[in-house]
Amino acid sequence: MSKKSNKHSGMVAQRTQDRSHSSSTVVTYARAPEPRKSNYVTVNCTKCNKPMRFMGAAPDEPVCSDCHIKEEQAKLAAEKHEVATRLNRICKVCGKPFYIKQSKVEKLKALGFEPFACCCACQQKKAAVHTDKKGEGNAEN
Ligand SMILES: [Zn+2]
Ligand SMILES: [Zn+2]
Repeated sequence: MSKKSNKHSGMVAQRTQDRSHSSSTVVTYARAPEPRKSNYVTVNCTKCNKPMRFMGAAPDEPVCSDCHIKEEQAKLAAEKHEVATRLNRICKVCGKPFYIKQSKVEKLKALGFEPFACCCACQQKKAAVHTDKKGEGNAEN
């Protein structure tokens, strides 16, 4: 029998003779004795696979500090990009400046709509007037 690479890392194979079948060897795997009793667990970063230690239990998706920083930077860059590409407009109704995210503009385009001409507050007011009209037939001042 050739010795295969040990798949059971951290386990120790214990070979004992099977008394009823002297030719066979019973192999049982037992956990290797830990050098020190510690509450640390070693897990690999889900992004870069770097091993790291956690006190107690590891989180579901462990991310090392390096990757965490990278993620934060990517988020900031995405926010900056959003600010740089968003559509700045002046509300037709109240004259206040407002903006529409590029992603929202794309979505509207895909649906065949033009980017909003008035701000969020005025849109809501408009929508409220619409529902009023529907409810009362004609409620014009
Ligand atoms: Zn990492
Ligand atoms: Zn407005």
